[in-house]
Amino acid sequence: MTVYLVGAGPGDPGLLTRRGAELLARADVVVYDRLSHPSLLDLAPTGAERVAAGKAPGRAELTQDEINRVLVERGRTGATVVRLKGGDPFVFGRGGEEAEALAAAGVPFEIVPGVTSAIAAPAYAGIPVTHRGLSTHFTVVTGHEDPTKDHPDVDWDALARAGGTLVILMGAGRIGEIAKRLVAGGCDPDTPVAAVRNGTRPDQQTVRATLATIADAGVQPPAAIVVGPVAAHNLAWFDQRPLFGRSVVVTRAREQASDLRARLETLGADVLELPTIAIEPIDFALPDLGAYDWLVLTSVNGVVAFFERGLEPAGLDARALSALRVAAIGPGTARELAARGIRADLVPERFVAEALVDAFPEPEPGPGARVLLARAEQARDTLVEGLRARGYDLDVVAVYRTVTTQPDSHAVERVRRGDVDAITFTSSSTVTNLCDALGRVPDRQPLVVSIGPVTSATARARGLRVDAEASEHTIDGLVATLLERLGR
Ligand code: SAH
Repeated sequence: MTVYLVGAGPGDPGLLTRRGAELLARADVVVYDRLSHPSLLDLAPTGAERVAAGKAPGRAELTQDEINRVLVERGRTGATVVRLKGGDPFVFGRGGEEAEALAAAGVPFEIVPGVTSAIAAPAYAGIPVTHRGLSTHFTVVTGHEDPTKDHPDVDWDALARAGGTLVILMGAGRIGEIAKRLVAGGCDPDTPVAAVRNGTRPDQQTVRATLATIADAGVQPPAAIVVGPVAAHNLAWFDQRPLFGRSVVVTRAREQASDLRARLETLGADVLELPTIAIEPIDFALPDLGAYDWLVLTSVNGVVAFFERGLEPAGLDARALSALRVAAIGPGTARELAARGIRADLVPERFVAEALVDAFPEPEPGPGARVLLARAEQARDTLVEGLRARGYDLDVVAVYRTVTTQPDSHAVERVRRGDVDAITFTSSSTVTNLCDALGRVPDRQPLVVSIGPVTSATARARGLRVDAEASEHTIDGLVATLLERLGR
């Protein structure tokens, strides 16, 4: 029905507004800019049409007229259209022109403001745009225009006299001329300048100089350039986080990656998600639970699939397990059970199949020895053989399978070149699938961190050097080990 001009924020996906996220979640069409973070597009339904409007290498660029036309056309179909724009849509985003085109065509539109890079990039670089005693106002100006032309739209002399803080967007290419112009207009050549490139992103960089020296500082776009006394501030926090500037490959299935991803990102890492597997539920027949004494679950996915698919369509009622004892392979699985109101009776001290076999009590003769193991279709037989060897009568029900997916080719190429700092492996299948996708060992092998001994063995068998293994075989353990090896 409506075209929403939504501010996507400056890069950090966490800076999208709640209103923006809500609209993306129900968008039929998303028209996005190059500077939008890819994970924001994942918030839109899988089936939504995605139209790239901004400049991107290898992709056709739409002119502003073409963008306006797409918005009007899609809007007229009655679709919910989200026009995702970097930063705030009405700060140098040409959002005003898009809204005018929609208004002229009689297409309903709404504006969802966003966090502008003019304020957020300095903030992430530790620079407050106003500060008591230093700056009482800030001006945001485009540096796009040639400041030496005869009648520039920007009155640089007035800006030079105004003092306060000047934030220049789109000015990386002309900052030398702009600085000269400001000094000619009366600014002190020693006025501090800070150029924040890729602000709020994992590759944020800040160049610090003065009006006299900024021309030679090598400022690259996209940058928010701060001029004024506040630019000397360095209330550093963003680039102080332990994994800042480190790129880490996450190989879990997309369904599971977000937890690990979020944790690494909170620590400052640039996370490259290479999901080589996806989880596919199996339409299994739930066995008669009354025939068992134990239920064993060996992964979070197993719990999810067992409960959601068991007794379709309503899912499993936890009371069906009242007579069973429940074993979980580790704390993640146990937490997933707890979320469904089931407290695991047995969790081994080490979170591997061998330890789970050992942790089982001596089976009572006859009844008391029947085990149902719900797990992935493809799984090691350690548990099955181990529990049978210990005298348990065991049935297996496959509740999900992992299927191989083709990861993004740019990401694969980057890992092949060895252009990442670390690769994390959370299971043997992630090793196998990543190695298959890469086709060869990377040119320069980054740090390889594995979740446990079985995964490590698979990695070694594939010719990789395993640099570190989590001592606790959980995601927490993996993150802790990565921090030890890669943290500042
Ligand atoms: N509407 C956007 C600005 C669009 S103009 C906003 O409100 O942020 C594009 C310019 O914004 C770039 O040339 C650069 O100057 C600035 N910019 C956008 N994203 C940035 C980022 N992450 N870090 C620094 N500057 C950024």
